[in-house]
Amino acid sequence: MRKPIIIGNWKMNMQIADGLVFLNDLEKESYNIDVGIACQAISLIPMKEQAKKVLIGAQNTNDELNGAYTGELSVDLLKEAELDFCLVGHSERRQYYNESDETVNKKIKLLLEKQITPVVCVGESLEQYENKQTKEVIEKQIELALQDVDVKNCVIAYEPIWAIGTGKTATPEIAQSVCRLIRKKIASLTSVEIANKVRIQYGGSVNPENIKELMACEDIDGALVGGASLKINDFKKLISY
Ligand code: PEP
Repeated sequence: MRKPIIIGNWKMNMQIADGLVFLNDLEKESYNIDVGIACQAISLIPMKEQAKKVLIGAQNTNDELNGAYTGELSVDLLKEAELDFCLVGHSERRQYYNESDETVNKKIKLLLEKQITPVVCVGESLEQYENKQTKEVIEKQIELALQDVDVKNCVIAYEPIWAIGTGKTATPEIAQSVCRLIRKKIASLTSVEIANKVRIQYGGSVNPENIKELMACEDIDGALVGGASLKINDFKKLISY
């Protein structure tokens, strides 16, 4: 039985004080799923210090442990801040900062060494989707990202780029079929037993109206949520789907 996990990705939004008020509100209720927030670097420490139930994670880390990488954030600091998870390979990072499958793989390994859960994002572009390349693109991303990785300690997020921030959600059928494909690919790289333990999220315009149908899918164990995680009432509705 896989425990569902819903993570809000605040991206480059939310001031520190507003984030703490949001977190306080979120923590007033109990949930029997894992709930997480990925916030901006400067908010991580106050958020983690205040969080009692909600998991707190970074949106990115560097693929080197330390050194002359101005402006970057090391895995060691994430560990020192006692963070629970870190997003890796979000499509916005792949698209705007040229993040490759190879750097994604390096980041995952560094995070696992420090016992921080990598939330590994994969997803195809609109063009690839329209050209029916989804299977090939996703399988390649999974294979390269998870090379020599202990995948049972990772969370995978399937986020079709064409559904992120666009209001276009993949239908539950599409989302389920790609999440199923990811699980099968993981099984072929490891074993069915391990693949059945890995939690796979769907992300892309998830909202309080569509969450229930998505979460009802056999291979979808959670959601990575952008826009709808910025409004407390929407996010609360989402996590109590
Ligand atoms: C995301 O950024 O991971 C995301 C899924 O965004 P949105 O929910 O806004 O589409």
